[in-house]
Amino acid sequence: MGKHLLEVKNLKKTYPLRGTSNKLFAPKEHMIAVNDMSFYIEEGEIYGLVGESGCGKSTTGRAIVGLNKMDSGEILYNGKDLCKLSDREFRPLRKDLQMVFQDTLSALNPRGRIGDILEETLIIHGMGDAAKRRETVLEILQKVGLSEEHYFRYPHELSGGQVQRLGIAGALIIQPKLIVCDEPVSALDVSIQAQILNMLMDLQKELRISLLFISHDIGVVRYISDRVGVMYLGSMMEEAGTEELFENPLHPYTKALFAAAPDPYIQRREVAALNGEQPVRTEKFAGCAFCTRCPYATEKCRQEEPKLRDVKSGHKVACHLAE
Ligand code: SF4
Repeated sequence: MGKHLLEVKNLKKTYPLRGTSNKLFAPKEHMIAVNDMSFYIEEGEIYGLVGESGCGKSTTGRAIVGLNKMDSGEILYNGKDLCKLSDREFRPLRKDLQMVFQDTLSALNPRGRIGDILEETLIIHGMGDAAKRRETVLEILQKVGLSEEHYFRYPHELSGGQVQRLGIAGALIIQPKLIVCDEPVSALDVSIQAQILNMLMDLQKELRISLLFISHDIGVVRYISDRVGVMYLGSMMEEAGTEELFENPLHPYTKALFAAAPDPYIQRREVAALNGEQPVRTEKFAGCAFCTRCPYATEKCRQEEPKLRDVKSGHKVACHLAE
């Protein structure tokens, strides 16, 4: 087992639900977006976080890079709990913890040339003089498969795949320790997806950084990750090394995700594909988060929330019937 780069412990995030009380001072109901999430990421590891849209993956990822404040829990990095830091205290750590978004284009200055956008990141972090910065920008453009010619172009002149390459360049240029990649290839064609994933994997190995790779696409997560966490309704349902998880999925939700996946290399299990919608989880919700959709749910499942526990070395499951 490698050294832990970052550790997430019992993270919780709720949002008030609109219209749950029409009395002025009555307490509002809260939707639980992230519930008791715990996992770690090793140095030089790609950790995949997978689950349907709205399950809390992005909320968790954004908390790690300081974009979301959580209600409770810890994010331990370099001996510090990121959840307890003020914006000012967090600022020096931004260099280490970067993010790549699904919609990179909307986060870029449309009037800035690509070279200037990347150079500005270096200026913000006080890295290099003008000559060194230009050299660094040209180097990173080449690393992500863009060229010197792109230096003077505007973001809107790039294709979808090139924009995501630029987003990755923007994260990599300040030499981070961890990049949270939030659905970075979801909007791209399959062939472009493969190119971007291969590039990310090569760069991750070369630069020895860690990735938290967030996606709803189980096939993509399987392809890129060393270990995988499966999330449902804010909670971790199952976690294992990629090979172990795909050879031996134990949680009914993981099996249902596999059954629904279009990827022909993912083994189908004897379980029906997911039916129905994810319910809204509030403080009133008791029992297993998956019990409203699980074909095996018992009375115990409806009463008692199963703990995420080791069923074999490195393979954790939150299900009463896992054994
Ligand atoms: Fe299904 Fe019960 Fe397991 Fe939850 S605890 S996944 S409801 S069998």
